[in-house]
Amino acid sequence: MNQAKIFFRRNPALGKCPSCKSIGTLYKTHSRTISEKIVKNLTFYRLYKCKECDWRGFLAIVYFTSRSVFNLLLYLILFSFTGYVIYKLLHYLLS
Ligand SMILES: [Zn+2]
Repeated sequence: MNQAKIFFRRNPALGKCPSCKSIGTLYKTHSRTISEKIVKNLTFYRLYKCKECDWRGFLAIVYFTSRSVFNLLLYLILFSFTGYVIYKLLHYLLS
C-alpha cells in the first residue's frame, strides 16, 4: 500500500538542524504570528526550533519522490479513463 502514495510523511525532529547540522535537536514550536499560523494550517510546513543553536523556522513534513510523480500520473489516467467510461455509458443509456 505504501507504493500507492503520492505524499510521503517525514518527521523533521529526527533529522538535522538546517543551521548547526546537529541530529535530533529539533522540536515543534508554537506559531507566534498570524502569518505563521496561516502557513502552518495551509501548507505541509511546520515550525521547528533547535535546542542547540536556537534556530527557528519552517520544515516540510512531507516529501515527494519520482514514485510520487508516477503515482500522480497513474491516478490522473485512471480518473480520466473512468470519467470517459461513465460518459460513454450515460450517453449510451440516455440516447
Ligand atoms: Zn541547530
